[in-house]
Amino acid sequence: MAIVEPLPPTDDGRRQLQVRNPITNEILEQNLVTNLAEVLEAVERARAAQEAWSAWSFKARGAVFLRAMELLIARRESVIDHIVAETGRSRLETLFMEIFPACDALHFFANRAGKILKDRTVSLHLMKMKKAKLVYQPLGVVGVITPWNGPFIMCLNPCVQALMAGNAVLLKPSEVTPGTARVFAELLQEAGLPENLLQVVQGDGETGAAVIEAGVDKISFTGSVSTGRKVGESCGRALIPCTLELGGKDAMIICADADLERAAGGAVFGAMFNNGQYCSSTERVYVVDAIADAFTEQVVARVAALRQDPDQEYDLGPFIFQRQLSKVEAQVDAAVSAGAKVLVGGRRAEGLGEHFFEPTVLVDVTHEMAIMCEETFGPVLPIVRVRDEDEAIRLANDTKYGLGASVFTKDKKRGEAIARRLRAGSVSINDAAITYGALELPFGGWNESGVGQVNGESGLRGYCHAQPILIDRFGLAAEYVWFPYTAEKFEKLVKGIFWMFQTPLRWFLR
Ligand code: NAD
Repeated sequence: MAIVEPLPPTDDGRRQLQVRNPITNEILEQNLVTNLAEVLEAVERARAAQEAWSAWSFKARGAVFLRAMELLIARRESVIDHIVAETGRSRLETLFMEIFPACDALHFFANRAGKILKDRTVSLHLMKMKKAKLVYQPLGVVGVITPWNGPFIMCLNPCVQALMAGNAVLLKPSEVTPGTARVFAELLQEAGLPENLLQVVQGDGETGAAVIEAGVDKISFTGSVSTGRKVGESCGRALIPCTLELGGKDAMIICADADLERAAGGAVFGAMFNNGQYCSSTERVYVVDAIADAFTEQVVARVAALRQDPDQEYDLGPFIFQRQLSKVEAQVDAAVSAGAKVLVGGRRAEGLGEHFFEPTVLVDVTHEMAIMCEETFGPVLPIVRVRDEDEAIRLANDTKYGLGASVFTKDKKRGEAIARRLRAGSVSINDAAITYGALELPFGGWNESGVGQVNGESGLRGYCHAQPILIDRFGLAAEYVWFPYTAEKFEKLVKGIFWMFQTPLRWFLR
């Protein structure tokens, strides 16, 4: 049973989608798919609302998001209820992966955006007759297209950044988790966000494509590589900027001197949390031969102890839908057929419903297997024994992805040196799956894992056009290079170039 399924069209030919709870199969909601005409109307409303909003001070905008944070904390239980119903994830995981970072993003950008986006005076190295300012202008209407695997935070984080920068937002959440997005939008409205600044359009890829076509000024996309490629192509045709936050195949390197307990715990958490359905999930471990046996033994014991029964206290929830489970199962089966060995798990979990797969540890895997080179997005941890760290780095970089990576070692300098050799968007040392939460830092993928970055100063500024304003200081009657062009001006300019760039005077231009 798919968790999202089409219903017969309405009498007037409108498409509809129905969503079910992945644990109980209960119907959660039915939505009309927003069509292109409605998206166009929404963009028009957003433009009108954005004009007024861009005149609000950062403090006044921030006050809305601080109120939203207070509201979120007050009604966290009901928000968690919504997320758990749509994803099946445990309440604790929902609290720390969705509610906690949402509070942080609301608080952080409400307080910091003004500082990061305030006008800057820039001192010019050459044009001393001019004064320069850099002004961060909101782009206008931003389309935010999001996935299902973090349905609250993946909507909230880009939307709050775009809105704090003075834009309006059209949010197209995943068709798999429409209710959580609506809860988020209602929260902001109640907190005092003016009408039409954040509008949610519901539907699948067709609605996402309509948002790009509808004349928005930027797309902030989070999702798979294959959809990201289509979104990038459409944005290219529309000549609008986009950030593409895409999938990954994160590697973890365990050095011989790693703290075994922390490394094993980090690997299991990095691979299994959110049932492995996390973009920066640990999907490959390279462990140096000297500690490979001890490490693997600890990992297997920890994975075997993970609990899945949703009727009791549990660690791992279900897959969000059957398609995802089948993909993971096929990768595991193909790896086993090609010689991989299952140390624990490796099959559907019995007696828990249709969407559960046992958390799995594999060894004897190679880079010829899909499980080692394609995104898995499930609770599977393949472990590879390597001769030394050089081999680990070479294998970690042998991928078309490059979202995140982690290194475990007691020698932090060595960890940093390894990190610098990894082609990964971000690297954590002695930790896993954490960098998205460090809001000061830009987050984004290398290689096919993405284009552009969210978070940090550059991420926030990405929701603006950095507009230079150059002011002439002295008001002379004319500039030297203005017409007419004469042989005398040419000669003087040649001399000027000589004095400026070929004599010690060039020191002043550095
Ligand atoms: P997906 O690519 O299937 O869908 C993402 C969104 O795009 C959905 O809202 C979908 O309706 C929409 N969409 C589909 N076709 C479209 C089109 N042609 N034009 C515009 N929009 C379209 O991804 P998913 O299955 O929802 O999410 C899982 C993927 O997201 C994984 O690959 C995961 O790694 C990735 N992800 C990346 C990050 C990151 O920060 N890098 C974070 C979370 C998830």
